[in-house]
Amino acid sequence: MLSDIELELVPRSRREAVDFDNLGFGNVFCDHMFSMEWEDAEWHRPRIIPYGPITMEPCNAALHYGQSVFEGMKAFRGGDGRVRIFRPDMNARRLAASCDRLCVPQVDPEMFLAGIERLVSVDQAWIPARRGESLYIRPIIFSNESHLEVRPSRSFRMLVMTSPVRSYFDESMPAVTLKVEDTYTRAAPGGTGAAKTGGNYAGSLYPAELARREGYMQVLWLDGIEHRYVEEVGAMNIFFRVNGHIVTPELRGSILPGITRDAVITLLRENGHEVVERRIRIDEIVDASRNGALEEAFGAGTAAVISPVGTMAYKGEEIRVNANASGPVTQWLYDQITGIQLGEQQDPHGWCRVLPI
Ligand SMILES: *Cc1c(COP(=O)(O)O)cnc(C)c1O
Repeated sequence: MLSDIELELVPRSRREAVDFDNLGFGNVFCDHMFSMEWEDAEWHRPRIIPYGPITMEPCNAALHYGQSVFEGMKAFRGGDGRVRIFRPDMNARRLAASCDRLCVPQVDPEMFLAGIERLVSVDQAWIPARRGESLYIRPIIFSNESHLEVRPSRSFRMLVMTSPVRSYFDESMPAVTLKVEDTYTRAAPGGTGAAKTGGNYAGSLYPAELARREGYMQVLWLDGIEHRYVEEVGAMNIFFRVNGHIVTPELRGSILPGITRDAVITLLRENGHEVVERRIRIDEIVDASRNGALEEAFGAGTAAVISPVGTMAYKGEEIRVNANASGPVTQWLYDQITGIQLGEQQDPHGWCRVLPI
């Protein structure tokens, strides 16, 4: 399968021009990208080509109606020099589910994994080696048909780009500040909240901007019907430790099923913690905070890894968690997950795909 991927390499790498001491998140892209097209009900010409602009007509349906899905995962260079991609098989599965929801043709998981491994291998010199840094991998599939009719397209393009990144949140900021959003919603029952699709993000920008102006880094979304139940943070899933018990919102179709979320639940359970997935009223969290039972809150996602939540603002009240510090479970999970990603911890579930380079 790998040999089926055509290769067109850049004449000269741009890597030397990149300031690896000041990496942001997703603003520098590696030399190459993976590309293929869906035409006549088949994927064609998987290839690796120089990263760069693509052409499309102004009436490309993806621009107008948002028929596109994406994924996000990371490759790490361990202390042993080996390159590991964290759970890409899960990304392949979730991408297929997102494709179904958006009427986008699925990609064979074998092709998905082969394309990504090949791309990361080709640009392996770009994988940063310092702790906290990684190569972010962003696959996207979008309509590539020119039409303004509202219907599923017949042509699509898949691209995978890669970007050397530091962790998503500023490390000088110890904990995330959240505004609990009780006016706007991210997703509704029966909507696209469980699919990784741009439209979910488009609708979240305005409330996120309002939160930013009020001094909060992110929005904590509540359910789309009653605005009473905690959902997620938008690029990470949320966990609370209340009276020693870990709780996280159950997946009911409006929350993105995070792969980091899954890893967190698995690691906690096999280390003797009880984790309950259920509906969580925001009032419960407020009450727990008032009576001292709220011990930790953290977000889990590929970009953010595990990020402690320090403040949640709800109806004019600021809930403080663990004096803005990373709690013991939060810190333990961060160490476990980054340890597995860097090859420093046992990986009993085979979560990492070690590249043959
Ligand atoms: C990607 C994403 C997450 C986190 O999922 P991971 O697989 O852990 O990266 C959480 N919420 C939303 C809306 C997302 O798009």
